[in-house]
Amino acid sequence: MRSALSEKVAVVTGAARGIGRGIALALAEADCHVVVSDLAGDPASASYELSGQAQLDATTAEVNGRGAGRAVAIPCDVTRSDQVEALIGKTLAEFGRIDLLVNNAGIVHMTPIEEIDEARWDQVYAVNVKGVFLASKAAVPALCESQGAIVNISSVAGKRGHAAGSVYCSSKFAVIGFTQSLALELAGRGVRVNAVCPGILDTAMWSQHITSEARGGEAAYQGAVQALIPMGREQTPEDIADAVIYLATAPNVTGIALNVAGGMEVW
Ligand code: NAP
Repeated sequence: MRSALSEKVAVVTGAARGIGRGIALALAEADCHVVVSDLAGDPASASYELSGQAQLDATTAEVNGRGAGRAVAIPCDVTRSDQVEALIGKTLAEFGRIDLLVNNAGIVHMTPIEEIDEARWDQVYAVNVKGVFLASKAAVPALCESQGAIVNISSVAGKRGHAAGSVYCSSKFAVIGFTQSLALELAGRGVRVNAVCPGILDTAMWSQHITSEARGGEAAYQGAVQALIPMGREQTPEDIADAVIYLATAPNVTGIALNVAGGMEVW
């Protein structure tokens, strides 16, 4: 049976690992062509370890094997307009169209405000906010042509602040404001723009930063899941991918920020 995404073309940023990898795999299983994009470069400037080209290549090979569509790896730092424009240009050269942009790339930084230096603040905003703007702007002409959709990965941290979360939470609030505004702007041109707000997933963000070994490790992670998620269990990349596929294919839904968080926030 053909899926609604058969032969469509999706670009997923930050797709080498974690949630982005899960989204790319699920789109491929729906027979979508997938551009697996990731930084694949200098990981030195983040507050925790990022992956590189080898991880991007491994994920792309995995995505390629999943469905009837093709997958290609296109490295891109979403903070760089030249690289983002090249990502969209190469996608159009390879596949001739873009139906879905998933702005997933993101970084976290959770510390008290006295410990956030200006460079770190700028870096979080560059990836989490400016990256969403740059990729959306570059993809809009192609999305208008295909009557496609954008799905931005925000967070429940984009709906409620947390102590030590001033930079990360505010950047994710910005993603929801951007989503609502662009949804209204593009509604008349047939392009839908939505967000997904994940709760807690066991990716590098938690294991290498929020609950790194120095911050309590696995016990602290499980404690956070139990304390913060009413349903008492973490989310998975598959849970988030299901929401992305719903928003990619729901013809009358735009401007929403859909929680996938086990009741962690209820609006
Ligand atoms: P992750 O495993 O660290 O994945 C983030 C991805 O973004 C990585 O592949 C990373 O590249 C990529 N990236 C970082 N900077 C980039 C840049 N400048 N340009 C392009 N790609 C870049 O974390 P994750 O949990 O899957 O996060 C994915 C998204 O979900 C983020 O937007 C995050 O804020 C959001 N989120 C996560 C959670 C959670 O609990 N994990 C909850 C709510 C929302 P490398 O492969 O090079 O490392």
